[in-house]
Amino acid sequence: MKQVIIIGGGITGLAAAYRLQHLAPASDITLIERDERLGGKILTEQSEGFVVEGAPDSFLSRKPRGVGLCEELGLAAQLQGRDPRHSKTFVRRYGALHPLPSGLTGMIPTNLAALEHHPLLSPAGRARLAQEVDLPAAPANGDETLASFVTRRLGREVYENLVEPLMSGIYAGDGAQLSLAATFPQLRQLELKHGSLLKGLQAGQREASGQVADNQYPPFVALRGGMGTLVTRLVAQLRQTKILTGVGVVGVNHAADNRYTVHLEQGPALQADALIITTPAFVTAHLLTDIDPRLAELHTAIPYASSATISFAFALADLPEAPDGYGYVIPGVEDTDVLACTWSSSKWADRAPADYALVRVYLGRFGRRNVLADSDDDLVALALNELKTTLGYTATPRQQWIFRWPRSMPQYTLGHVERLQQIEAKLSEHPNFLLAGAAYRGVGIPDCIQGGEEAARGVINYFGM
Ligand code: FAD
Repeated sequence: MKQVIIIGGGITGLAAAYRLQHLAPASDITLIERDERLGGKILTEQSEGFVVEGAPDSFLSRKPRGVGLCEELGLAAQLQGRDPRHSKTFVRRYGALHPLPSGLTGMIPTNLAALEHHPLLSPAGRARLAQEVDLPAAPANGDETLASFVTRRLGREVYENLVEPLMSGIYAGDGAQLSLAATFPQLRQLELKHGSLLKGLQAGQREASGQVADNQYPPFVALRGGMGTLVTRLVAQLRQTKILTGVGVVGVNHAADNRYTVHLEQGPALQADALIITTPAFVTAHLLTDIDPRLAELHTAIPYASSATISFAFALADLPEAPDGYGYVIPGVEDTDVLACTWSSSKWADRAPADYALVRVYLGRFGRRNVLADSDDDLVALALNELKTTLGYTATPRQQWIFRWPRSMPQYTLGHVERLQQIEAKLSEHPNFLLAGAAYRGVGIPDCIQGGEEAARGVINYFGM
């Protein structure tokens, strides 16, 4: 019986264990998680009729392995789209909330008519956007930052007021450092193929309008009862996996016969024929120091952003009328630590008792100060001040939930693609050693699931099963 050890019990590690159990039921699988709780960044708290998300609240349905795994786990009926009654998203800019213009494809405005008199773009900004179709494509050499690409093609205002705040909601990142090739490679491909981003996106829209949509789900899906439902269901299925929680892995060494020894914070070391490591890059770097110092070094170069989310329960009777929508994002040029605010109970059904509103403030930007240096009281004050200034909320929240996420969001900075190539090349020297997780090819939950599943397949290939 082959012994496989999976390090890290976030969604990547859990998906790897599930797939491995499925493909090789005779393997001896152990999953080791440092925390007492499984799920990693996926954390839902339920109390008194509130469903509060600590970090992810939904995922993209067009990336197949998110809904795919939910379907396999019998959770298809639990998938929910955003509440269509409140479908607006706003941008806080110039001291007010402005609805996102219609005709955005992803983050990019493609409907110039919808931007006529729109407060987020000045006449000069609109004119600059309109020029995009005539700008020559940059030669096909090398990578650039997201900020450089979008500014070069669409102008600074489109970048600062539309693309940057939407992108920050995904990466909590700094567009002036993020690699275009690692985050949105399709944008560059459109430029190269069509000579213009706008022409490329419009061609894609025309093509899509003639096709029958093959995705039966809304673009973003959550789970009734919160994202924690996915973790609970997944863990319940891991009947052939030994799960150790509350035990950190402190190191990994080569052992005889091409095996590995996994050292734990406490208790005897474990032996493995194959290893899957799914921890954040800075932990993986530490674990790899003995096995392959160069691989460790490549991981050290992946920076992480820290953030916090604070959810508040307000009695509806205490609140002034808010704009009708899911929430708002805030561009970095507004110079605040607050990234976004979500009206969670308007965005998703059944998140709060009928006479309450659940509101979430997302804090922390990569490249600015570390908000986690603040005390809980200071973070709460910062979040409440945002709600007061922007929405006129002066009521005392009836309940609050604070979640701190130190070094939680990997930043795919310039050079990330080359780093991944070097990591892949080094990994080929260690075929019974697989790496997966948010640090590599996508931070979203479907990407992490896919990465975990591919790692499980890598183990099967190695064993020749
Ligand atoms: P993790 O969840 O980090 O799991 C790694 C696990 O390894 C952890 O459980 C950790 O405790 C464990 N570990 C660490 N060190 C050790 C050790 N020494 N020994 C053993 N175990 C160890 N994605 C979306 O798709 N949609 C969203 O809406 C969304 N929102 C987000 C909001 C926030 C605030 C954050 C932080 C992330 C969000 N994401 C979202 C991203 C997504 O949640 C993560 O990228 C994903 O959950 C990461 O999963 P993972 O398994 O790769 O890593």
